Parts: sequence; C-alpha cells; structure tokens
Amino acid sequence: MSNSRNTNRLAKRIRSQTSLTLSTASRLARQAKVYLGSSVANAADPQQRRLEAHMAHVLASSFQDRQLNGALLGVREAGPDGQRLVLTLDSDMADEVLRELLPRFDHIYGGIRGVPGLRVRGRGDRVVLHDALGPAQVTVTRSDHGRMRLPSAREGEVLLWKRTSGGLSHDEKQEVEEWAVPQGRTDLRVRDLLMSRILRCPRLVNRTAEPHGFANCYTHHSGDLVIEWCCGDTVEALCANLLAHGIADSVPREKAIELLSPHSAHLGERTVILNRHNSCLYSNEAWDVVEYIKKGYAS
Ligand SMILES: [Zn+2]
Repeated sequence: MSNSRNTNRLAKRIRSQTSLTLSTASRLARQAKVYLGSSVANAADPQQRRLEAHMAHVLASSFQDRQLNGALLGVREAGPDGQRLVLTLDSDMADEVLRELLPRFDHIYGGIRGVPGLRVRGRGDRVVLHDALGPAQVTVTRSDHGRMRLPSAREGEVLLWKRTSGGLSHDEKQEVEEWAVPQGRTDLRVRDLLMSRILRCPRLVNRTAEPHGFANCYTHHSGDLVIEWCCGDTVEALCANLLAHGIADSVPREKAIELLSPHSAHLGERTVILNRHNSCLYSNEAWDVVEYIKKGYAS
C-alpha cells in the first residue's frame, strides 16, 4: 500500500474495527504491503464456517512445523465455489492434507483424529469433502492439477470416512458435538469466523512460512490456533495485512486485536495467536530442516 491516501483510509478502517488508537492503526497501515483486493469472502452460513474452522484447526494441529514449499496449512489458493469453498492444495502436501482431515479412529492414539463427520464425494482431480450431517462442503484440488489420492488405513486405524451407511458412530457424533460446545471463554461465533477466514486467506498466512519454506502452527485446545515464525513479515505487518482484508469484520471491536508486544498479537481475544521470534531460529540450517521434513513425507 504505497500512497498515503490508501494508508490513511486503511488506518481509519483499522481504527473503526478495533480498539487500537489512531496512531497505532496508522503505524500498522503503513506496514500493509500486500493488497489482494477486496476483503476475504465470508463463508455463506454458520455450518459452512464451522466446518472450515474445524478444518483449519485440524490442519494447524496436524502439520505443526512440517510444511513444504511455504504452505502453512497445506493450502496455496482459496476461492469461492458457488456458496461453498474450493481450496488448491500444495501438490507435495495434498495427500497429507487429505490424510489429516479425513476422520479415522486411531487405536494407538486412543481416539478420533481428523474432522469428525467429514465424508468424501467424487474422485480424480477434484474431491468434495462434505459434512455428513449438513450442507457444508469444501472442494479440494492439487496445484499441479494431478489426481487426488485418498489415504489408506495405517496400523491401528479404522477409516470412519469410508462409512457410507448407518451414519456416524456414537464416538464420532460425540466429537462433532464437542466442537460445538464452548470451552472456557471461547466465543464459538468468533472462533468459527476467524479460523474460517484464516483458511480462506492462504496468500497472507503463507507469508509466515515463505522465508524458510515452513513455519510453526499448533493449537492448545479447540478454541485457539497459534502461528509462530521467525523471518519475514513482522507481527504488525501480518496483522495489518489481515486487517486490510477484513479478518476482524463483525468481530466485536474490543475483541478484534490486542498487540501484546512487537512480537506477539492476539486476534479475537486468544483465538488466533501470532508470535514471531525476534531472531532467526535456523539461519544456515534451514535447508537441513527442509530435507528432514521432506524425508518425513516420503516415509
Ligand atoms: Zn528465520
């Protein structure tokens, strides 16, 4: 955002949607360098938002710091698909994304992994992941337009997504219900709104993984999603870019953003937690880490 008129306009927008002072909003606005056009399109309805939020949450807790090619949640592009969403997955991560999202009972872990209630429609280069209990769905494709490969069961796993008759098991239904019950101070509306938008703006969040090809993401509980990185955008620059694209639209102003330090910010109270280390964690060893991550995918 180069000219001062745009910077002022964005500063006012940030000011009106957050409890930041105008001078802080202006400081953030000056750092918003990526402008992709209008705001991130919202999910069409609460069920769609809830499914997308759950997908973002599962991907963050599954991938942690083992991304390839700088795709933080395995996603390169996101766009509308009628009332629904289509995600273009990084081709090297696409198989793992499907493996992590599709629900399975893991006897070694002792519970369900993946997004409970998620089922598959279609084959080939476009696969539809849909909610068995409602209309929500997300279509996934690969960035190299190749064929999507559905996962097979690993030791100790029962693939719940293959159940086509009889609906959801008691355990799976219980997991679906738990996602819809607030834990602690979690505001479910804010959680679903913010996490769904995180999934819908990969070009912004992937900037955290761009310098080294990977970053770190994880969750503490069902109500948060943490992104940690070192080089590249500062926390304020990322916040400015996210706010410029409407990440906090219709989130209560007082909950929109809290800047804790130059290296840490919270969006939606503690729903999205952004932490940037103030020095590089890897320096010359980043390529060794990338090779190590690649080996993990190959095994
Ligand atoms: Zn670094």
